[in-house]
Amino acid sequence: MYLKIDGEVADLDSFPHICPICHHGIEPKPKIAFHASELIDYLMQCPRETCSHGFIARYVLDSPGSHYRYTHSVPISSYCCA
Ligand SMILES: [Zn+2]
Repeated sequence: MYLKIDGEVADLDSFPHICPICHHGIEPKPKIAFHASELIDYLMQCPRETCSHGFIARYVLDSPGSHYRYTHSVPISSYCCA
C-alpha cells in the first residue's frame, strides 16, 4: 500500500498479521510513520480490546525505488493477555 510521508510516497509491502504483544492474528490500526533514509518505523495499535497495545512495524528500503519491505515488529512481548 502507498503511504505519503514527509512529502514522499513510500510503497509498503504489507502490514504485520500478528500482534507482537498478544500474539494473536490481527489487522493492526496504523497510526504514525517515521521515515529515515532507508527505513520506516510505523507505529500501530492492536485492535483487540483485551490488548490495545501499540507496537512498531519496521520496514527497510528494497532498493532501488520506493518499495519498503516489512521485516519485523518491536517490541516482542512474552506477556500474553487473554
Ligand atoms: Zn495485541
